[in-house]
Amino acid sequence: MSEFPSSRLPQARRELRSWYRQVSRPLPWRQSHDPYRVWISEIMLQQTTVAAVVPYFHRFLERFPTVDALAAAEEGEVLKLWEGLGYYSRARNLRRAAQVIVAEHRRAFPETVEELQTLPGIGRYTAGAIVSFAHNKPAPIVEANTLRLYSRLLGLEEDPRSAAGQKRLWEFAALWPAGQNPGEVNQALMELGATLCTPQSPRCEECPLAAVCEARRMGRQAEIPPAARRPELTELAEVAVVVQQGPQYLLMQRLPGERWAGLWDFLRFDEREAADEGLPAYLRRRFGIETEGHADFLRLTHGVTRYRICLRGVHCEWRRGTASEEERPFQWVSLDALAETPLPVTGRKLANALAKTMAGPLRLQGDSHKKKPRKPSRGG
Ligand code: SF4
Repeated sequence: MSEFPSSRLPQARRELRSWYRQVSRPLPWRQSHDPYRVWISEIMLQQTTVAAVVPYFHRFLERFPTVDALAAAEEGEVLKLWEGLGYYSRARNLRRAAQVIVAEHRRAFPETVEELQTLPGIGRYTAGAIVSFAHNKPAPIVEANTLRLYSRLLGLEEDPRSAAGQKRLWEFAALWPAGQNPGEVNQALMELGATLCTPQSPRCEECPLAAVCEARRMGRQAEIPPAARRPELTELAEVAVVVQQGPQYLLMQRLPGERWAGLWDFLRFDEREAADEGLPAYLRRRFGIETEGHADFLRLTHGVTRYRICLRGVHCEWRRGTASEEERPFQWVSLDALAETPLPVTGRKLANALAKTMAGPLRLQGDSHKKKPRKPSRGG
C-alpha cells in the first residue's frame, strides 16, 4: 500500500461530485434531508439491497411519517411492517430510539456522531450517515460499498475488517467529506462503490477516481479487498405445528433472546425435542394441549443469518387444554387475522400454504400418523 496522494484529493473530490450529479439514482430517501427519513433508510439498507428496501421504505413512511408516530406505535405493528426484511432487532431498535428521541431530545434528532451513537441500534456508520446526509456536516462513513472502494483506492493489503484495516479505512474516510457539501461527497462515494466499484468486474474505465486508484495502478482490483470468509452454515431441523381449532390457529410469541423475538409463530421447536415421545405427547407435555390428526403438509428450507432451517410443517387439530408455557403469550387467530400478524418468513410461508388450502384440500406429505386432518376452514 502506498500513501494516498492527498494533494490530488481536491481535484478527485470535484470529479467525483461532477460524476455523481450526472449519474446518481433517484432513490426515495435522497429526496429530502429529513434526518428521520435518512435514519429509516439507512437502518433498512443494512444487510438489504436497495431494490428490496424501496417498497418497505414507502410503506413504513406512510404508516409512520414522523418520529412521534413511530414512538407511539405498538411493537407488533412495527414488526409487521418489517416482516420479510429480517434482522428484526433493527425494527425493535428503531421504535425504542424513536421513543428516546421524543422523550429525551424533544423530538429533535441529535446532530453529532457521538450523541447519535447513544441511541439504540445506531452505530458509527449510521450516525455518520445521518450527520452527513441530513445535517450536511463532515463525518466519515464506512459501510460495505465504501469499505471495498477505499480498500482499492488505497491498495490496502491487509484485511479491511481487521482492527488495523478498520482504523486505516476510517482515517481515510475522514479525508473525503469536506467543502460546501460534505454530505454529497459521501453520497457520491457510496454510489461509486455500489454501482462502479463492484465486487466483481469493477468498471474502472468509467470511474471518476481511476487516476488516484492504487489497486487499478497495480492491476489488482480483483484481489483487493480479499473476500470475507463466509461463516459455516449450521443446519437446523425444526418442526412447526399448525394447531387448528375450528376456524382458528394457535400462535405462540417468540420471546426476548429467541430468534425473531417479538414476532408470532406456529408452535415451533427443534425436531429432536419431540423425537422420542412423538408429537402428541410432546405437545401435551410442553404446551399442555391435547391434539390429534397430525399430518405433514409442507417442507421448506430457508437461510437465516448463519443458519439453514429445514422446516417440517405439521397440521393437527386441537382437542382440549389451554396452551401455556411460563412467560410465553399464545393466541388463537383466524386466517384473516393471521395475515395481519407479524410472522417470520417461514411462518408466513406456512400461513400462505394454509390460506391456499381454502381453495382445495390440504396436501399431505408423508403422513406419519393415523388420522388425517380436516381441510382447514373459516367456518369451523
Ligand atoms: S478505478 Fe476501478 S477499482 Fe479503482 S475505485 Fe475506480 S472502479 Fe474501483
